[in-house]
Amino acid sequence: AIDDPDAIFREGFLKRVHAEKPRPVRTRFPPEPNGYLHIGHAKAIGVNFGFAKYHNGICFLRFDDTNPQKEEEKYFTSIQEMVKWLGFGPNLHKVTYSSDHFDRLYELAEEMIRRDKAYVCHCTKDEVNLGRGGKDNRGERFACAHRSRPTEESLAEFRAMRDGKYGPGEAHLRMKQDFTNGNPQMWDLAAYRVVKENHHYRTGDKWRIYPTYDFTHCLCDSFEEISHSLCTTEFVLSRTSYDWLLEQLDFKIPNSEERGPMQREYGRLNVEGTILSKRRIEKLVKGFKAPSRDIPSVVRDWDDPRLYTLVAIRRRGVPPGALLHFVGELGVTTADTSIQVVRFEHSVRKYLERTVPRLLVVLDPVKVVIENLPNDYAEELDVPFHPKDPNVGSHKVALTKTVYIERDDFREEDDPNFFRLAPGKWVGLLYAKYPIKAESFVKDSSTGLVTEIKATYGDADCPKPKARIHWVGDSASGKTFEAEARVFNSLFKAQNPNALDWENGGYYDSVNPESEVIYPNALIECGFDEIRRRAPWPAEAGEAQIEGTAAAPYTIRFQGLRTGYFCVDVDSTDAKVVLNRIVTLKEDEGK
Ligand code: ATP
Ligand code: MG
Ligand code: MG
Repeated sequence: AIDDPDAIFREGFLKRVHAEKPRPVRTRFPPEPNGYLHIGHAKAIGVNFGFAKYHNGICFLRFDDTNPQKEEEKYFTSIQEMVKWLGFGPNLHKVTYSSDHFDRLYELAEEMIRRDKAYVCHCTKDEVNLGRGGKDNRGERFACAHRSRPTEESLAEFRAMRDGKYGPGEAHLRMKQDFTNGNPQMWDLAAYRVVKENHHYRTGDKWRIYPTYDFTHCLCDSFEEISHSLCTTEFVLSRTSYDWLLEQLDFKIPNSEERGPMQREYGRLNVEGTILSKRRIEKLVKGFKAPSRDIPSVVRDWDDPRLYTLVAIRRRGVPPGALLHFVGELGVTTADTSIQVVRFEHSVRKYLERTVPRLLVVLDPVKVVIENLPNDYAEELDVPFHPKDPNVGSHKVALTKTVYIERDDFREEDDPNFFRLAPGKWVGLLYAKYPIKAESFVKDSSTGLVTEIKATYGDADCPKPKARIHWVGDSASGKTFEAEARVFNSLFKAQNPNALDWENGGYYDSVNPESEVIYPNALIECGFDEIRRRAPWPAEAGEAQIEGTAAAPYTIRFQGLRTGYFCVDVDSTDAKVVLNRIVTLKEDEGK
């Protein structure tokens, strides 16, 4: 389905959901602004925004901001940026906030009390749990004394909650549901609670009480006239309480989808082999004081390319279209999907293969002097930017007397199974007319490293080489670029880092020392200049360049022939380009 990410809307779960309610589609993506989005959220964005787009409907980005202690402005900004990056800017009909509706939600809470469908309860957490059948929800269930208090009393107490008479845990508003129902979501859920650190990013100190998810979500869906409220399957049981509350307030007709929003649940996307939990990533970013030792930080920040937050995936250079294709390839059903990171990388690799140009890049250069060429030799070669797509164009690279090749492509001693450069052996230089043969080499006695290889250039009569290697010429070849290349491997040695010890810091011992390998002296050929000017690669909706501004670094993407897919990192300066390897060329190349 690589060319058809829309297939998920034409078949299966999302087709059925649309058939159930074919009228104008209005969806919402409702993150809590308490952290950065991760790869799983890309599915939720693809499903909600994509479904609306496919059916010519609209989608809201709704910040579910009902937990003031955990919410921060930087998360609002980043989440919005990610939605746009994924290409849904034009479909983003409106940004809304649950907090926009705090007044109306409060009024409806009073209305619930007046209708005898809610009451103020003073039970402790343990008492509430006991009435809900105890720890495992299997014991006897019973109503507390507060449930039957007069409506007027609950109303007065609710206002007292609002006005600050109670501290957290001393009073909460509960919905009067049905303890005989087998669904725990019907056992008098909380609707409002008193919050200690009550300052809210948008509403300031106006509220001391805040509505719960169960009270807020369905009502905000109604206010915003959402047609399809798509969420993940952990909310299956909540569908009953969702409908129940809407019915109590006449937003919905019992057993009918005729009026009001309709909740349906799809499976989550879990990516294995990496950490997605906010609390755990925070440990990786900041380090932490474990009970017996101090654990240092492991990654640069939340956007470190080894993480799978969306900011990290973007910084690493994955195009947004590749992410959406990946979601489309996995499909949307009611079952959770668990995949390994290698499957994601495979999908990205296929996407990049078709969409980005090629350049010659040498990660770990060693100098080769082709002794039988004159000092000012410059054999002009016409090099295509994409071997399979002539429309991408080509550029000139000159073969010069001095070239740089990958240290790995040379062996001091030849071997019949080795087909690249060695003393006495011919090897092709990509795009050059004739191969070269190594004659001798110079070694640094202190480091033991080869510092220079002396070679000869072949002619029409020389043997045909078995392999061609990549190279970069010297300055006479065109302006070459010095770069620091960062190559990423999996962050942990363990297959399943989630199973490591996160409480006492044991995870630290499993960090892969080669999770980031830096090549400080990499070289990029002169074509880089044009590639940089022509970015973004590929040209995608969410990354379109604003006229007159430089392209975002992560959109400057290319394949380094034989070395992998790269993009430019934000750490780049005028003096030095920093590259991130997005993925390897082949699946088994990582460490
Ligand atoms: P997490 O705890 O991983 O941050 P969450 O559910 O608390 O996840 P929210 O910010 O509340 O995160 O999520 C916003 C929306 O994204 C919700 O509708 C949620 O169902 C969806 N979502 C979150 N994680 C995934 C996932 N792994 N796969 C698919 N959808 C997801
Ligand atoms: Mg969350
Ligand atoms: Mg949540």
